[in-house]
Amino acid sequence: MKNKLTFDVDRCKGCELCIRACPVNILALDEKRVNIKGYHPAYIMEPNKCIGCANCALMCPDVVIKVERVKSDD
Ligand code: SF4
Ligand code: SF4
Repeated sequence: MKNKLTFDVDRCKGCELCIRACPVNILALDEKRVNIKGYHPAYIMEPNKCIGCANCALMCPDVVIKVERVKSDD
């Protein structure tokens, strides 16, 4: 995997701003989970398609998402 996203799940308030900010549409709210605040938290559906742009992390008002961009030489 090229890039790694980590979510501070319990900080998420399900506002969907990150989902709208993602240019490759791979973020969604996880309807199967409920976090400590009672929201469905955002998650990444297709990690392999992430281009590491960090738009999601920049848009999140609650600093839920951390993007680690990994350089790939292959
Ligand atoms: S880093 Fe960019 S491509 Fe990856 S999930 Fe966030 S917005 Fe989408
Ligand atoms: S922008 Fe942040 S708070 Fe809003 S859904 Fe995405 S991760 Fe959750």
